[in-house]
Amino acid sequence: MASCRPVRIAILAITASFALAAPAALSAAQPVVLVQAGHLSPGEPGYLAQTGASGNPFGLESEFNRRVRNDMLTRLRAAGVDARPLAARVEPLGVPGATFVSIHHDSPGGAAMVGHAITGGNENYYRGEGTGDASPTPYPDSARHRVPATTVSAAVERTSAGTAQRIAAGLKSIFTPANGAGGRFRGVIPPNSNRRMNHFYGFYRTTAQSRVIVEVGAAPDDNPFLAKVPLISKTLSTAIINDLKARKLL
Ligand SMILES: [Zn+2]
Repeated sequence: MASCRPVRIAILAITASFALAAPAALSAAQPVVLVQAGHLSPGEPGYLAQTGASGNPFGLESEFNRRVRNDMLTRLRAAGVDARPLAARVEPLGVPGATFVSIHHDSPGGAAMVGHAITGGNENYYRGEGTGDASPTPYPDSARHRVPATTVSAAVERTSAGTAQRIAAGLKSIFTPANGAGGRFRGVIPPNSNRRMNHFYGFYRTTAQSRVIVEVGAAPDDNPFLAKVPLISKTLSTAIINDLKARKLL
């Protein structure tokens, strides 16, 4: 028995070195991108009443968001990204990553636009589980939010603004009448022009270095465009990949 021990120790040592080396090599090569399908169940406490718009070619907004998210996951993974799906409820709370992107479409009269996290202030509070106007402080009847919320640093705002610009440029290139877009394109919205987007709760549930939210278009104004899920997913994924490359993460 005694003669076996050195062999066993050697095997254990080799196994241990592989176990330690493999995850490090993987994470260095594969940046994590969190792709959220907005409003998709299960919901985030405090926002459960915000079930999203409807009237796109696939019905509920959450279904459009889910289709785009899933197509993006496939494309991002093919490009070497560790792409992970999120529903409306961000799990785990405080999840890290290189980029967090939340997919949405707007309601009638809305627009295609991109918002990003900004430093200062905090997440939106609403009445009950998500009705009424967005407020930086809780209403007496605001439903309880999960804690602790994450914060948005100046560095996160800068990185997020860069990602938002690249996504908006990509979206602009395909948001054309020829592709069925009939509504407005607003590009990256100025900070604090839209509390609902700039202080979106998702930005305070992750520690991702870059945090953006995309309104791909509005239903039903842009329905022929919103039907083009592969084109939209490819364009958004390419913008995210180029952003990761510019940040030297891919
Ligand atoms: Zn939405």
